[in-house]
Amino acid sequence: MARGFQGLALKAFGANDYKLTVTGARAVTESFRRLSFQAGGLLEHHESHPTQWIRLWIPNGDKVQQRGYTLLNSDPVADTFDIDFALHPGPAWTWASTASAGDVMEASVLGSKFGMPDPVPTEYLLFGDAASIPAINTLLAEVGDARLRAAAAELTTTADTYAWVACDFGTTRNIVKSLKTIHGLPKNSIKATAYWK
Ligand SMILES: Cc1cc2nc3c(=O)[nH]c(=O)nc-3n(C[C@H](O)[C@H](O)[C@H](O)COP(=O)(O)OP(=O)(O)OC[C@H]3O[C@@H](n4cnc5c(N)ncnc54)[C@H](O)[C@@H]3O)c2cc1C
Repeated sequence: MARGFQGLALKAFGANDYKLTVTGARAVTESFRRLSFQAGGLLEHHESHPTQWIRLWIPNGDKVQQRGYTLLNSDPVADTFDIDFALHPGPAWTWASTASAGDVMEASVLGSKFGMPDPVPTEYLLFGDAASIPAINTLLAEVGDARLRAAAAELTTTADTYAWVACDFGTTRNIVKSLKTIHGLPKNSIKATAYWK
């Protein structure tokens, strides 16, 4: 199916293309469906890192549209990973809710770069919603829970707080604005990506 302008632009920027094969599917909760994939060489060429994501070419009518999804449980030796799809009406969920072993999905890889902050901050602030829970889980696996606040009545930051923000476009923009203007967090202490709009 036609990838249109998105496909041409990704190609021009050097995206790598892969053919993924679904090997299993199950409900993780009522709101998440997990698909397991054989990665078609993807993990051989792209080293795993926290929050690693790829662009799936999701069918929508007579076209396909790219959508970001986070890799979980990556096994570079077996070349396999899982993706957890959050339930909401849309072409991605429509596809994921009925996908089963043997189904094929095309994917492109471009732009997934993330390194844990160095030096290690005293505190991480993670802002997200259902779409970014998979990515947050990959961050927590790296950070552990030692630097998580059990509860907070209001948002405060320290001199070396590191904030990671991944909500919908408007919420992400507002949180980043507050972190900068109200809490004085410098730009390089914030990693922000809009996960949906
Ligand atoms: C780097 C990155 C990693 C991501 N990882 C994951 C992941 O692992 N799992 C995951 O589920 N999502 C993830 N997302 C979010 C996912 O790409 C978007 O939710 C995407 O818009 C879904 O596409 P769609 O075709 O189903 O819906 P769209 O065609 O984009 O939207 C259809 C309708 O659904 C609404 N909508 C879209 N997404 C959401 C949402 N998450 N919650 C509520 N309403 C929504 C839209 O506002 C619109 O009204 C990630 C996004 C990025 C950028």
